[in-house]
Amino acid sequence: MSHPSLFYHYTPVCDVEGCDRPAIHKVAAPWTDGTQKELRNYGVYCCFHSEGQLERARDRQARVKLGAGEKVGTMQLYELIEGRLDTELIPVA
Ligand SMILES: [Zn+2]
Repeated sequence: MSHPSLFYHYTPVCDVEGCDRPAIHKVAAPWTDGTQKELRNYGVYCCFHSEGQLERARDRQARVKLGAGEKVGTMQLYELIEGRLDTELIPVA
């Protein structure tokens, strides 16, 4: 099997252990502590794992205690587009 992607640039791979498919989605949620804002990354996944991992990440997040002023928005799947900044990522409808 050839791996043409190796000859180009880094292609993210699914975060599920043992899965080596290319990641196409990022699980992320907007996060803020009142002063800073970012899109918090909860992992990148291939088309087979992204939906299930989104559910797991939501479950995990629901049990996390947030600090004073901390807020986490809706966790969603974002299309992973190479070279695109987090702030430019588009949630998958
Ligand atoms: Zn996968």
